[in-house]
Amino acid sequence: MSLFSAVEMAPRDPILGLNEQFAADTNPSKVNLGVGVYFDDNGKLPLLQCVQAAEKAMMDKPAARGYLPIDGIVAYDNAVKALVFGAESDVVKSGRVSTVQAIGGTGGLKIGADFLKKVSPDAKVLISDPSWENHRAIFQNAGFEVGSYRYYDAATRSVNFEGMLADLNAAAPGTIVVLHACCHNPTGYDITAAQWDQVIAAVKARNLTAFLDMAYQGFGHGIAEDGAVIGKFVAAGLNIFVSTSFSKSFSLYGERVGALSVVASDKDEAARVLSQLKIVIRTNYSNPPTHGGAVVAAVLNNPELRALWEKELGEMRVRIKEMRQKLVDGLKAAGVKQDMSFITTQIGMFSYSGLSKDQMVRLRNEFGVYGTDTGRMCVAALNSKNIDYVCQAIAKVV
Ligand code: PMP
Repeated sequence: MSLFSAVEMAPRDPILGLNEQFAADTNPSKVNLGVGVYFDDNGKLPLLQCVQAAEKAMMDKPAARGYLPIDGIVAYDNAVKALVFGAESDVVKSGRVSTVQAIGGTGGLKIGADFLKKVSPDAKVLISDPSWENHRAIFQNAGFEVGSYRYYDAATRSVNFEGMLADLNAAAPGTIVVLHACCHNPTGYDITAAQWDQVIAAVKARNLTAFLDMAYQGFGHGIAEDGAVIGKFVAAGLNIFVSTSFSKSFSLYGERVGALSVVASDKDEAARVLSQLKIVIRTNYSNPPTHGGAVVAAVLNNPELRALWEKELGEMRVRIKEMRQKLVDGLKAAGVKQDMSFITTQIGMFSYSGLSKDQMVRLRNEFGVYGTDTGRMCVAALNSKNIDYVCQAIAKVV
């Protein structure tokens, strides 16, 4: 008998499964709106100019590849702190933030989850309903019981903020609440600044632990605008967790560049927290890889490259917004009667289209237009060449 005879087949990842189906599809007009990746107007994955410039400078002066410190490149960690909290912020200057380089935003979440299991072993975790599915899996695998707070209301096509707040107010003290800092995945609906204030008040009053997932900084309203919510939590005097991903904002998906930042109450506490984060890293993968972190640090720490990055990220942000508008206009022109203007009130890479599972399946099977069964479409994969086709296809299934 084999050691593995009782091992069950795990369910396929729904998005990766969709990708496989897309690759096998022979429809020449096929469009993949399933995966959360930004493509340019030619349907190509961009390699940012700022990244190329940083890489060229690195090639011109090739560096040996020794081990990095467990918590990563110092210049990288400092650049992340500056980006997320502000270089001149009190919280950074007083040494209250511990930041470690992580293997993508996923890695940041995982390090945070494992560390939280040590400091709050009995806490429950709440994620938004719906959320990026890996949130549930990451915290469950770290040993937590994971529930959800109300977030999206399909009937009104908006955030059920009362429900969200009620669920936070009903959470037991110590509950870990995973919040999308901006550009909510999958719905595309963010809460307003005034609503964030109420969330922060609830987190404070109920003594909850906020874990902010910042996977799309710069894709919403701007780098500083999207990051402002972090400052609000800090100003409220809360100990928070922030995971950062540069996969999208630098188009460096495969380099796995991210970070985890933890805000402690004082410098001494931050040092102790950092020492524990390092143990989590050391016992999982020892230390992070060199290349992606070095590229991002080089860009963020060089004023010219930094300006170029902000320009390029701005272009991605603006192009997505244009596609949202074109989608709304195109659907109307294609004869869709219902008001689809909600697509332009959504933000970030995704749109919850409101289409049913049946409609999404028809889109896929009859037109080669791939989104998830939940109706989520990646607007960042639309372009001036495929938008008309997508609008026609949607018009035929609704
Ligand atoms: N959080 C959210 C909400 C995401 O959408 C993603 C990426 N799809 C991540 C985290 C993970 O990012 P990364 O690819 O950098 O691990």
